[in-house]
Formats: sequence, structure tokens, C-alpha cells
Amino acid sequence: MANVVKISLDELRSQPQQRMLIGFKETLTGLDAVKPVIGDVRLTLGHWGVSISGRVQTLLKLTCDRCLRAYFLSLNVDIDEKLVHDFDKGSHRRDRELLKKDFVEVIPADGVLDISDIVYQAVTLAAPTYCLCGSDCPGPSGSQRDSDGLSLAGDKKEAEKADPRWKNLKTLFPKEDSGEIS
Ligand SMILES: [Zn+2]
Repeated sequence: MANVVKISLDELRSQPQQRMLIGFKETLTGLDAVKPVIGDVRLTLGHWGVSISGRVQTLLKLTCDRCLRAYFLSLNVDIDEKLVHDFDKGSHRRDRELLKKDFVEVIPADGVLDISDIVYQAVTLAAPTYCLCGSDCPGPSGSQRDSDGLSLAGDKKEAEKADPRWKNLKTLFPKEDSGEIS
């Protein structure tokens, strides 16, 4: 629980201009981060909900999908989230569906915003889905051999398939075949 930043709407409401600037510095579990996530996160309370914006950075330790080497990636993540008040539970379903499509989330019923989770989601989204260690990536040396092995196996299968037919040809034309060999 130590590494979780939570801000309640009441806290935010009590701030001048209903704004709050958080100096974010947390080690978030579940990320491949080797450094804490640090940055500034601004919360602004409006009549419709809460705007959360800012910028954080961290250092990820990733595994290259090509050469399978571990490498580091410094990541800057812009945060721009909007959480709306859950005014009408149940009613206006279409509106809520629309909001979901726009990736607008609803403020939890207890009015407590999990800033750590919002930052975590943003960093997770910004992390590459396909990891490449860099322009000097030595390439998939190991997997190349694998695919070559596979194609060889495929050739073998083709040869096995062709073999019986070839045998049939041999039995159909035994004289011609033996004549070719000798
Ligand atoms: Zn690589």
C-alpha cells in the first residue's frame, strides 16, 4: 500500500482553484521498470469530473523480440485522462457506452482516485508491444536456425510423400529405371 498515490475528490475540492499538482515518484509493481516512475501530475476538478494530465518518465528493462537480449528503454509518457462523475447510474446507457469508446472513465463511487493506477495504465500503454533493442540489433540468429530446421523438416516430409509414388514408378517401369541407373 506504500506505493499507491490516492487522491479523494474532497481533498481536491479543498485546494485553491480545485487544482492539485502531484510530484509523482513511485515504484510501480507490475511494470518492467528498473527506476521509479517520476514526473508531475496535475489534477483539475471541473463540474463534469476530473482532468488528470502531466508527464512522467521511467526506465524499462525489456527483452528484444528479435535477438532475445535484454535492453533498457527510457520512456516519457504523457498523461491525459478524464474521469467523469457517475451522475446517472443505469440511465443514459448510450451516453455511457459513448464515454467508454472515448476512453473516458468514471470516477469511483467512493470518490477516491487511484493516481498510481492511472499512471500505471498510461505507462503500460506507452510501453512498446513489439520490443526491438535498437538499430544495431544482431537479429534473430537463434530463431533463424529454427525456421531453417522447420523448412528442412518440411522438405523431408515432401520427400517422404514423393517416395511411394517414385517406388510405384519404379515397380511400373522396372526395366527403364534400372537401365537409367546402369
Ligand atoms: Zn535485438
